Amino acid sequence: MSESTLRIGVLMPEVLGTYGDTGNAIVLKERARRRSIAAEIIEVGLLDTIPESLDIYTLGGGEDTAQSLAAHKLREDPGLMRALDAGRSLLAICASLQVLGRWYRDARDQRVAGLGVLDITTDPQGSRSIGELVSEPMLEGLTETLTGFENHGGGTVLGPEAQPLGRVVKGTGNGTPEGCEPAPIAYDGVVQGSIIATYMHGPCLARNPELADLLISRATGLDLEPLEVPGVAELRAERLAMLGA
Ligand code: GLN
Repeated sequence: MSESTLRIGVLMPEVLGTYGDTGNAIVLKERARRRSIAAEIIEVGLLDTIPESLDIYTLGGGEDTAQSLAAHKLREDPGLMRALDAGRSLLAICASLQVLGRWYRDARDQRVAGLGVLDITTDPQGSRSIGELVSEPMLEGLTETLTGFENHGGGTVLGPEAQPLGRVVKGTGNGTPEGCEPAPIAYDGVVQGSIIATYMHGPCLARNPELADLLISRATGLDLEPLEVPGVAELRAERLAMLGA
């Protein structure tokens, strides 16, 4: 952590807030605060300069037009790129996962250049994946089943530098671009360097506190004691029971 306060960035909430993913920053702040770690949320709007020295960055999902604005901003403003070069953590959800890749093709068949920090490409799946998404984590440090909801038309293919976040138990996750053979095993998300990206909304960190704590732990260098927040275990149990997962 650069200063005594954990600084959590929410980038472009006015275009990437459609699915409630700005809640991820609130969860990070609250889980830090309950452990007596001072934390603040810094909202960085579309017209603001992206600071390069925040401790954790969060990016949310959005629809195609909003997503292309975000892609343009991230290509023009070097702030996030510099932060990633310095190894700072980034959590990216759905549309942002796609934007961080080499390129994505949207529902109108427009190919949009991404930031190129994830070795992935995204094409339309030909249908929309909407519903619960459950996966078993593949990232070291995570043991608990990952749960969220997905709502996307894009299917993402990972290159050799990118690792999946989880092995899908229910739902689609990264999916299959139209015309491609579905892979025998379905995966969700992408892990590459200090970036964790996923198709899970929820907000993702409200549903998956272990992932929230991993991000706080990485940013602060602290080993965190377990923390029970009332309602969180019940929410997870209810969601997973509903699916029979
Ligand atoms: N527009 C993208 C898609 O449909 C991302 C949607 C989202 O962020 N939920 O694939």
